[in-house]
Amino acid sequence: MYRVSFLPSLFRLVVLSGMRHRSFVFVTLFIGGTTAWDPETHRIIARIAANLISRDTTDYMIRDILSEGTQPQRILPLSTLMAQIAPFADQHSGVYRSYKSYHFVSTPDKNCSGVDLDRDCPDGNCILGGIPRFVMEVADLNLPGPQRSLALKYLIHLVADIHQPMHLGFEGDHGGVGVGLHMPDKRGKHNLHRIWDHYVRTNNGRKNLDSMGHTNLLMTEIHTSRRDTKRSIRRQAGSIMPQDGKSLTLARISAMTMDMANETFRELTCRYAYSTGTDSFGNPIWLESRESLDQAYFDSRSGVVDLQLIRAGVRLAYILEVIDQHIQLSQQAVETITQG
Ligand SMILES: [Zn+2]
Repeated sequence: MYRVSFLPSLFRLVVLSGMRHRSFVFVTLFIGGTTAWDPETHRIIARIAANLISRDTTDYMIRDILSEGTQPQRILPLSTLMAQIAPFADQHSGVYRSYKSYHFVSTPDKNCSGVDLDRDCPDGNCILGGIPRFVMEVADLNLPGPQRSLALKYLIHLVADIHQPMHLGFEGDHGGVGVGLHMPDKRGKHNLHRIWDHYVRTNNGRKNLDSMGHTNLLMTEIHTSRRDTKRSIRRQAGSIMPQDGKSLTLARISAMTMDMANETFRELTCRYAYSTGTDSFGNPIWLESRESLDQAYFDSRSGVVDLQLIRAGVRLAYILEVIDQHIQLSQQAVETITQG
């Protein structure tokens, strides 16, 4: 069985990387024609999240919202249900055209300082605005069922997308779509965005592992660090809302979204995706179009990709539990008022 040699230490990064608060301001974006992690990678993240959800009420909430007022699906395991809908936003991007820009944010070329809300997403029409928007829609009991259901499908998808470093890629090459590269043992050129959507996860020791096998591998990693994972979920809970659970606010979920974006961008986008390493001055050695990637590029990135999948799954589970808590409290408040 393939051994993930350095994942445990990387996994600790999930735990140790506390999410800092940032004041919230909305920003812009644009890229065109990109997708996301491939469907199987989205399914892995959704399954991890489903497996980590411990509240029965959250499980029911997800089934209830997705059913849009009909009988909630109770037979399928939650992980199967969530894995089914995880790639929905890509599969139906032609239908929901106005949502296309929610899948990513574009950043200035070769500027590795970080994502900037005012500069990169001033209208909130990017993933930095999309995640908060859909969180608030899922949590809003006054919205129609179909709208909340669509918001939940997008939320499950976008929390995965924000952990894909090319979804925070440079504007000039459309998040890596304009960088055509040769790959070992593959004919023709493959763009850098697509390489990160798909090949960077599979073109290594995972080659013979299907997405269910990869999910199980990552769940094993999570369970062996289970206490850390729990602590991480609680810490992130604290960064969005206080323990009394009354403050699921747009500003707080937006700050968390911003932190997730900057973490992905600063740790991966320049360092692992757009470059092969750094020169003696610490500057990135940029990949150029028509360059050939060697196998080491893929082998050396499998650990950070696994870490991103775990981070996305852990945070998705957390966000869904926070929404559920918020809904429970809202319903209790309504009942108190009604009884009073
Ligand atoms: Zn996407």
